[in-house]
Amino acid sequence: MDNVFLNKDIFKGAYILMLKNLFNKKVESATTYEKYAALASLLNKQLDDNYEKTTKYVEENNLKKTIYFSMEFLMGRLITSNLMNSGYIDVVKEAFDDWGIDLNEVEQAETDAGLGNGGLGRLAACFLDSAASLSLPLYGNSLRYKKGFFVQRFENDQQKEYPDPWLEKPFYWEERKEDEAIQIPYFGYVKDTKLIDPVWIKAVPYDVKVVGANNGIVTTLRLWSAEKSQWHKYHDDEYLKMVDKITESLYPDDSTEAGKTLRLQQQYLFSAAGIKNVILNHKKLGRDVRDLPKYYVFQVNDTHPTLIIPELMRILMDEENLGYDESWDIVTKTVAYTNHTILSEALEKWNIKIFRNLLPRTFEIIQEMNRRFKIVLEEAKVPAEKVYTMQLIGANNVRMANICIYGSFSVNGVAALHTDILKNIELNDFYNLYPEKFNNKTNGITHRRWLLHINHELTDILNNLLGTKWQTDLPQIKGLEKYKDDKKVQNQIKEMKLAKKRALIKKIKADTGVTLNENAIFDIQIKRLHEYKRQLLNILNVIHTYLRLKSDNEFKKNFYPQNFIFGAKAAPSYVMAKGIIELINKVSHVINNDVETNDLLKVVFVENYNVTYAEFLFPAADLSEQISTASKEASGTGNMKFMLNGAITIGTMDGANVEIVQEAGKENNIIFGLSAEEVNNIYKNNGYVPRKIYDQDQRLQRVFEFIRKLTPNPTHFDFILQNLLTSDYFLVLKDFDSYVSAQEKANYLYKNQDLWWKMVIMNIANAGFFTSDRTISEYNQDIWKLDTIKI
Ligand SMILES: *Cc1c(COP(=O)(O)O)cnc(C)c1O
Repeated sequence: MDNVFLNKDIFKGAYILMLKNLFNKKVESATTYEKYAALASLLNKQLDDNYEKTTKYVEENNLKKTIYFSMEFLMGRLITSNLMNSGYIDVVKEAFDDWGIDLNEVEQAETDAGLGNGGLGRLAACFLDSAASLSLPLYGNSLRYKKGFFVQRFENDQQKEYPDPWLEKPFYWEERKEDEAIQIPYFGYVKDTKLIDPVWIKAVPYDVKVVGANNGIVTTLRLWSAEKSQWHKYHDDEYLKMVDKITESLYPDDSTEAGKTLRLQQQYLFSAAGIKNVILNHKKLGRDVRDLPKYYVFQVNDTHPTLIIPELMRILMDEENLGYDESWDIVTKTVAYTNHTILSEALEKWNIKIFRNLLPRTFEIIQEMNRRFKIVLEEAKVPAEKVYTMQLIGANNVRMANICIYGSFSVNGVAALHTDILKNIELNDFYNLYPEKFNNKTNGITHRRWLLHINHELTDILNNLLGTKWQTDLPQIKGLEKYKDDKKVQNQIKEMKLAKKRALIKKIKADTGVTLNENAIFDIQIKRLHEYKRQLLNILNVIHTYLRLKSDNEFKKNFYPQNFIFGAKAAPSYVMAKGIIELINKVSHVINNDVETNDLLKVVFVENYNVTYAEFLFPAADLSEQISTASKEASGTGNMKFMLNGAITIGTMDGANVEIVQEAGKENNIIFGLSAEEVNNIYKNNGYVPRKIYDQDQRLQRVFEFIRKLTPNPTHFDFILQNLLTSDYFLVLKDFDSYVSAQEKANYLYKNQDLWWKMVIMNIANAGFFTSDRTISEYNQDIWKLDTIKI
């Protein structure tokens, strides 16, 4: 196909034709959505060429591939990144300018692809962008959920969940590949390793193009959809209902009891279909299955795709007739595992009965793996009580993390501190057995989306000072550091921030009706709602600050106006998290309606935080709230997006905050609270009495009193307050005093503008390490060892 994006005139002709074909409309009469749809289809079609070239190069040159298995890919909108990465955006802009069309507005017509809950899914999306941009043959593998992450609305200040039927309108970036469908069996029983009478379903792949930045590379994210199978005899209602449900929706939670079988069905679907698809292609190219490790690495993003390990064993043994040892050798040279959590309650375990019922042959294989693993442990003289905790199967459940560690050649954590905790505490027994498997890969973010696409103001400043080389090699923004005391540059950064604040203010005004003061500190906490992330600590300080403004004139006189902004979804069954949302909403009404403090303090909880909202929020922030209980946040990536856009971290020494401080300097961030080691000592010693802290701190007593008066029923929030007083597992009260001081310091520092913007510049200039290009390069050097695609 000729390049219809070659110049503005050719583009115009093709675009007019597309609008006519799709909607029978002219440019003047098309709606914004129709304009978007025509642009997206035209671009998607244009990308076919590069997709074919990329595929051909990879095959003809026998390149090894990484298949990135992840149950979540939180992609957001694709139109902007596809336009920018393909290099066609300027041509489109010129044409649209001639027509008086606002490209920005057209881009907003795309619905977010919300196939993820939070950081883990967003990381996978950033990795796709970085790998394609580094010309690496990495391909995503996941599920095509008909409904993405739920839409959040507040009703009476409480979170209500609504479905996100994002596929109701056509998704222009995908292509159905019917001829590559895979038949997947569930249930049935095993006779001599053969599965008898299973329920068959058909997994159909849809490929979404992934566009590398300015390199002509197009890879794919493959999404599997469950459909009825002709291999199954009876298409009765019950069967059709089951099939429909499998890829109906993304799980909004990784910890609820409900629908366990369904979630396991999902995990098996994309794992088994992904693996079978690879093997079929591998054989079609005339290759031997024994050579699989030469051609593939399967990177497992958390334990959700664990089933690729027994599934690969099953195919090699049952279908390819290899022996156990030879099969195991192939598996353990091909699979690599990324651990994302140290919260032990979040480690995936499956009830044996559910598991065996759904996947009887897979269970047999895991049993055999377990038998052999126990021999390994005995030979290594591992003590009996440890053998029990390390086994792949416990008394009642199948342990996915244990299977991953045993079945992988690489186990990586996602930040330096996290990997240390895995090695020395959480997975210490495994580390002692397999020290060579463990390694760290500190997370990153794609600076293309999180700076180039969303912050043109800062991009321009950097281009003017440094040229454009930093865009392909982010660590070069270090060059900004020498301007840290330059008043002119400081002023430019300040103007950039003001512009981004104004854009956010406009959006928040439209969404919530609240008017924010543009001359205030923008203090932002955006991330999933979880007790360990401690949004509660944040709101306790907000209340304390408010009460102090009302009672302490000296404090009020010196206080610099501050806007506290929250964005977060809570898992629908997570009562405590939902209570915290309601609490913050109720506090915001009291504070926002108090004329006495109105110019000084505002609190906003934005509805339905997602990637698109995030793109407004990160660039507008002065303060980045990263206040998790130390040791609980594996890495965080929101912290990196804030830093890159010129916000200062107020945070604990947790996750990648440790490395942010290392890179930017301790003096350029505001660190408070217990260290990971202190937290672990508190847990070990078992002597923490939160009540004592409360009894000795009048500030906390006043804050609690305020909360009791928020609602007609004074016990409305008691489940939150009592939990703080009696357990406080996440050490909110313990860190309260130190957090209040850190907040006072932040407010004080902001008033010294020369110092503040210098600190901001130091953060931007030292954010280079956190590009996911660096992360992906490290994965490739240490784990994948892929050659680049050269087109
Ligand atoms: C970056 C991002 C996250 C992860 O935020 P953390 O602060 O690292 O938990 C979650 N959701 C969205 C939409 C994001 O863009």
